Amino acid sequence: MDMLWEMIFMLTHPAEKLYYRDAYLQSCETTIVEHGTDAAGTPYVVLAETVFYPTGGGQPCDLGTINGVEVIDVEEVDDKILHKLAQPLTAGEGKAVCQIDWQRRFDHMQQHNGQHILSAAFAELYQAETFGFHLGRETVTVDIMTEVLTDEMVQRVGELANSVVFDNREITARFVDPQELATLPLRKAPTVSENIRIVTIPDFDYNPCGGTHPKRTGEVGPILILGWERNKGGMRIEFVCGNRAIRAIYDKQRTLRELSRQLNSSESEMLNSLDRIITEQKETSHALQQAKGQLLEQEAARLVASAVAKQDYRIVSTVQPGLTMQELQKMSQIITAADPKAIALLAASGDKTQLVFARGTEVSIPMNALLKETLTVIDGKGGGKPESAQGGGQATVPAEEVLAHALGLLERQIQEASV
Ligand SMILES: [Zn+2]
Repeated sequence: MDMLWEMIFMLTHPAEKLYYRDAYLQSCETTIVEHGTDAAGTPYVVLAETVFYPTGGGQPCDLGTINGVEVIDVEEVDDKILHKLAQPLTAGEGKAVCQIDWQRRFDHMQQHNGQHILSAAFAELYQAETFGFHLGRETVTVDIMTEVLTDEMVQRVGELANSVVFDNREITARFVDPQELATLPLRKAPTVSENIRIVTIPDFDYNPCGGTHPKRTGEVGPILILGWERNKGGMRIEFVCGNRAIRAIYDKQRTLRELSRQLNSSESEMLNSLDRIITEQKETSHALQQAKGQLLEQEAARLVASAVAKQDYRIVSTVQPGLTMQELQKMSQIITAADPKAIALLAASGDKTQLVFARGTEVSIPMNALLKETLTVIDGKGGGKPESAQGGGQATVPAEEVLAHALGLLERQIQEASV
């Protein structure tokens, strides 16, 4: 029955999909049945039969060459497999010599089948169904319907999945008729209603799938779970298989060796070393903050002492290179708290010019208005209250000049107020 069903499928199907007959076939010689150009202007050919797997079922398409011309995309549209080409083949060319990029295909087979095994392991151990799958350039993700996922669960799933790989079980893929389909313990319902292809790993997984599969689970190679995060009500699990897993392990090993060298400790001691470094760093940072605070207070006290008297007021005008806006504000608070008649015009120079203007409690000149007028010099933005205002602008004019301008405005106001 299976053979007959498969023959009917092959006869009724427009282009023979050689990758279903033999997933290891890397090349074929066939005839071109159609030359065309798609809506985007990309040339394509349709072949009587093909070794090129078109994008589908979560597996990216094969790449390779046809008559030496690069195949850049393969997709199935209305039962036709379009082989998109980097440049058109000579018109009227009837024969096609096809060659797929086998490394790419085998990698896809490893990742794709690794997903079959991983999904089956989640279903078997935790009755957790798969609801999404993405085979990416670097890593692969599978979405599993589970609310919790612990390190221990991940370890058990990884152990079961890899034991199925090491068992080197046979993987079979064949087309089944609806009667047989009804008797199979499928993990998920097929997404198509005819030409249903069932992929079987005995005693483990029965899955409708249109992808390409190796003969045995051993070829999938190691299955390595890299991480997981909540996603769409379930968990998105990131993993790699086969050669990707081996490369990932070497990469991680290289990183660990380098970390071990830099931390000057063995791999088993690295986490303790890191803990120690982080603690020390926090302490150092705290001490530095305290020291900076003290410096700021000393500098503020010095500025208060050397303030310039203008009538009833005492003006502090200073550029403090490298101070942050927060530090400028802190400094202005110390100055105005120390002297109720003080007016602080503070600037920090750098990529931008930052300004903080503040007044003591016995000063009535509004600082926000003074700042607003000063900011026009540097095309800046800012705001605040009459007591204290801050802003910044481009460093096109030296900060000293900006403050000199502000000082001029301020002195005029003091003059006017006293008249
Ligand atoms: Zn599959």
